[in-house]
Amino acid sequence: MKIVILGCGGFVGSHLLDRLLKTDEHQIVGWDPDEKKISKHLKNSNFTLHKKYVDDPETQSDLRQAIAWSDVVINLAAICNPAEYNTNPISVIRSNLFDVYPIVQLCVEYKRWLISFSTSEVYGRTLSSYVDGAAYDNPDLYELNEDTTPLIMGPISNQRWTYACAKQMVERLVFAHHKEDGLPFTIVRPLNFFGPRMDYIPQRDGDGIPRVLACFMGALLHRQPMQLVDGGTARRTIVSIYEAVDAICRMLQRPERANGQIFNIGNRANEVTMAELAERMRKTYARITGDASFNDHPIVKVTSERFYGEGYEDCDRRMPDTTKARTLLGWEPNIPLDDVLFDTMTYFHAEYGETAEKEVEPIPGE
Ligand code: UDP
Repeated sequence: MKIVILGCGGFVGSHLLDRLLKTDEHQIVGWDPDEKKISKHLKNSNFTLHKKYVDDPETQSDLRQAIAWSDVVINLAAICNPAEYNTNPISVIRSNLFDVYPIVQLCVEYKRWLISFSTSEVYGRTLSSYVDGAAYDNPDLYELNEDTTPLIMGPISNQRWTYACAKQMVERLVFAHHKEDGLPFTIVRPLNFFGPRMDYIPQRDGDGIPRVLACFMGALLHRQPMQLVDGGTARRTIVSIYEAVDAICRMLQRPERANGQIFNIGNRANEVTMAELAERMRKTYARITGDASFNDHPIVKVTSERFYGEGYEDCDRRMPDTTKARTLLGWEPNIPLDDVLFDTMTYFHAEYGETAEKEVEPIPGE
């Protein structure tokens, strides 16, 4: 297949390339300004990298040419760092909505299949978060179905929702072009993919606040407390990046089934509260390092305002209905959370473990 991958150098893109370039089956043209995570593929004759942002004016004619040449365009390019949603909202809206608009238009013009990476954040909060008592545990109120669940976001002043809102707008745009112009599309809503190369370790190779895995991992590596935002009661389901990439490959193999669909890609069996995740991660790290003191690694509570700044509001729970992925793609994830954590944390330990403690000052006042 001839595949264009935008944002191919990130966490998901790098794993997708690992998988797609295993054989000679595909020719891939990618865009990403950063090649660190994909350096091993740069000499592969089936892969061409344009080391540019997709909105760079100098790359527009190459982009047009590549989309015209392709069978499918996979868009992974995004600012998807939760700490930026409320602190850097204009860039978040621009990159996730306006920068994507021309790409959608090119796919419409050439009638190319667009696999558009969205986010499970488009669901926002669950209906169950607005009710008390037993109703909170009613699956009809918290399960997330791609085609029937309402998308519930907070007020405009809670700028956390800028990302979700921009992504939702792209979903609506893509769907509208499907209806009006016959644009072939598939929308992917990822639910907390975890694996090696995810994000970056704060205070080491990036600024700001990455997602929870990298935050907790950084805390363990640097022997700083793991911080539970607003008590750590939010729940997430965690899916292995390898199984998530397998879902994408199944879409590529079944275009007639994937076309016109939105898919939740997540693992229902791996649901944890953030407090449980911290607990499991410190135990896993004790196993990996053989240092039993990590079993009692400090865990502290912090308010979201202090951790993320003003305008943060959390998605309380994300339990995906994955019936469509199972019936249309034959996809069913089964790697247990402990295995996902062990594999992922072993990678981070190998990459950063040796030098981590020596180079970083402890957080003052925790
Ligand atoms: N979180 C936390 N401690 C951290 C980082 C994040 O308790 O050091 C919480 C965050 O408030 C949210 C959950 O972990 O409830 C998942 O956050 P993440 O940044 O991974 O992204 P999300 O799943 O919300 O897209």
